[in-house]
Amino acid sequence: MFGLSQDLGIDLGTANTLVCIKGKGVVVSEPSVVAVNNDTNQIVAVGNEARDMIGRTPGNITVVRPMKDGVIADYDTTAAMMKYYMKRANEKRSSFGAKSNVVVCVPSGITKVEERAVIDATKLAGAKEAYPIAEPFAAAIGADLPVWEPTGSMVVDIGGGTTEVAVISLGGIVTAKSIRVAGNNLDEAITIYIRKKYNLMIGERTAEEIKVEVGSARGADSNVTMAIRGRNLLNGLPETITISQDEIVDALKESVEKIVHAVKTTLEKTPPELSADIMNRGIVLTGGGALLNEIDKVISDETDIPVFIADNPLECVAIGTGKSLEYIQHFRDNPNVASRTTIE
Ligand code: ADP
Ligand code: MG
Repeated sequence: MFGLSQDLGIDLGTANTLVCIKGKGVVVSEPSVVAVNNDTNQIVAVGNEARDMIGRTPGNITVVRPMKDGVIADYDTTAAMMKYYMKRANEKRSSFGAKSNVVVCVPSGITKVEERAVIDATKLAGAKEAYPIAEPFAAAIGADLPVWEPTGSMVVDIGGGTTEVAVISLGGIVTAKSIRVAGNNLDEAITIYIRKKYNLMIGERTAEEIKVEVGSARGADSNVTMAIRGRNLLNGLPETITISQDEIVDALKESVEKIVHAVKTTLEKTPPELSADIMNRGIVLTGGGALLNEIDKVISDETDIPVFIADNPLECVAIGTGKSLEYIQHFRDNPNVASRTTIE
């Protein structure tokens, strides 16, 4: 190894990709989006710039999200995107030249083949060695939970594609569950609700804005409303309507229930000593979805366990991958401990 300053931690998320340099923190944080020119097959934009093109491209440009449900959907584009972000990170560190070792997160429910694809894409993007770390494990490290101690810690990472629930103790995942219900699914639920109720077609970006602005996991007795724009499906014309928070709560209800259910079933599978620890220490939420209004309170009410939102939920996994660079040897020695685990 060339000195730890060379190493990078990468959170390759469905919604966002973050790169962390040990000692420097998160140096890149952009959406996992790439715009490709179909005629030439060349990449025209990556990250924020590509995301701004969603729904606004001419015929010869396609905007792709190369990650889907936490796994690689488009291998070459993922590698190209990672290469671009690793280059950006390398521009921000002091030492140039030598290749980096990379710790990259993978969902806990991933198959060996899917994990291999992430590792290979990371190497194709320019890493010297690449080590997988289970996302919830990285999230727990990033949230400063005592993952190496004989204490049960529960983390719920609500990302774009998946929600990962895990109980961690002694440097390993004891039980985990990964469901494909998370931020994107909430956006879709809003889109469907508005289309059905108002015959209004809204864009992907608008759905996300609605979720962030007035979305909530349960009704808060307020009269929050929001004006939204879309295309009327009956006459094809642009239209503005006003929606209330209660309507969005309704739209999100089913997805929120699925997330709560995943937490409950994981608790049911948790050995008693560890569930006692979790009762005492609480559940920690990470990922962008942790910022959904009232989600912490709903989970707490449904489980009777205190719930805390991590300090920096969107960066937890990235910070955790960065911190875990110290433990590269641990991952080399125990490829199955901190990375994947068996999940039904
Ligand atoms: P991933 O790890 O899958 O890339 P992130 O942890 O980066 O996902 O979280 C992205 C998700 O969080 C997106 O679906 C985004 O809409 C959602 N999100 C971000 N901020 C908020 C917010 N304030 N309220 C609700 N959801 C949010
Ligand atoms: Mg994530």
